[in-house]
Amino acid sequence: MTAGNTLTQLASMLVSGDVEVIDLAVPLGPTTPLIKLPPPFKNTPAVKVHTISNYDDDGPFWSWNWLELGEHSGTHFDAPHHWITGRDFADGATDTLPVQKLVGPANVIDCSEATAADPDFLLTADGVRAWEAEHGEIEAGSWVLMRTGWHPRNRSEAEFLNVTDNMPHSPGPSVDCVEYLIGKDIVGWGTECVGTDAGIAGTFDPPYPAHNLLHKNNRYGLASLANLEKLPPKGAILIAAPLKFVDGTGSPIRALALVPKG
Ligand code: MN
Repeated sequence: MTAGNTLTQLASMLVSGDVEVIDLAVPLGPTTPLIKLPPPFKNTPAVKVHTISNYDDDGPFWSWNWLELGEHSGTHFDAPHHWITGRDFADGATDTLPVQKLVGPANVIDCSEATAADPDFLLTADGVRAWEAEHGEIEAGSWVLMRTGWHPRNRSEAEFLNVTDNMPHSPGPSVDCVEYLIGKDIVGWGTECVGTDAGIAGTFDPPYPAHNLLHKNNRYGLASLANLEKLPPKGAILIAAPLKFVDGTGSPIRALALVPKG
């Protein structure tokens, strides 16, 4: 089997639909929920769409807009430069990272039962090991995606952020989970929630381990993913390419997955 033959087969399976393309992005617009940091920290403003022309006197035959949006809005990519621990990687910004890593195998860990019972649920290293015992080892160069059933909440900012007593309650990884996955040499980690860390991860040691440790090791993050229940535990190919913003710390993306039909 040569790479050329494999791609020829893949091409025909994409055309026939035997390989399906799954949309892993949430809608991006003025009502897209965004993370809300407490004072004194600054926040990302809501997405704004400004009309340049709309088949009118400003452009009679064409319609186009310009956008006002944060790098970390909606379904988005966290580059290593997003966190202070990853600030010095020469290839850690959206315009310098190696694109070979942006397409790769996806491991989808289903935590939806646990997170339905406990919104603060943490996936631990032991949880990942148990998943590997059932589905196979997490391979170097792959992505790990935490499936939680959280994405339908994206329609409502209150439900999505799930703040009670001034604390957001949403699932994520434990410190030892992130350490374990870095040891497995993964490319990145993704979740369905507003960020790659759990809502309460500011209380961890270190705080925000998905951000702190992944970016410290030049790995990537994906947030606000959708439709992970349409992916098999193993066997999907993730495509997650940020815009080539110069010196960007992240970017909204149309995350996609290739999956075998059925
Ligand atoms: Mn982010």
